[in-house]
Amino acid sequence: MATERTFIAIKPDGVQRGLVGEILGRFERKGFKLVGLKQLTPSRSLVEEHYGVHRERPFFAGLVDFLSSGPVVAMVWEGDGVIASARKLIGATKPLEAEPGTIRGDLAVNIGRNVIHGSDAAETAEFEIGLWFQAAELSSWTPADQGWRTE
Ligand code: ADP
Repeated sequence: MATERTFIAIKPDGVQRGLVGEILGRFERKGFKLVGLKQLTPSRSLVEEHYGVHRERPFFAGLVDFLSSGPVVAMVWEGDGVIASARKLIGATKPLEAEPGTIRGDLAVNIGRNVIHGSDAAETAEFEIGLWFQAAELSSWTPADQGWRTE
């Protein structure tokens, strides 16, 4: 399993609802490594680029309004297989269909307020990390307990 990096964002609903610590804790406890973290209110153009694939969808304007409406916590997490594993931790797009135990399954009820974003593939992870972060904002480091998480 290759070491990867993925882009994760706690959307404005997650920040407003005070879920930042809960969500960070789930990724930390799993054993992934935090290599980038910041809070910002993204511009409309940043959100439009981020969700460019959905530009023609009827929910696009509302999605851009919402994501740019307030603080978002943007993160980069690193680990073996982290891209697919993070998607499992996050759960299905529709929170009512997301399994209990997942972030959306436990903490959300509505597709337009589903708390968190995670990159869906290696190419999108690379694109999204580059869109939201400068290289100098990311840390390469070795957790002190690394040998207790991986062989
Ligand atoms: P995911 O966030 O699980 O990768 P998508 O890439 O399909 O899901 O959609 C991106 C985001 O757009 C979703 O997380 C959700 O916030 C929003 N969205 C998707 N479909 C709808 C919809 N039908 N109505 C409102 N918002 C939607």
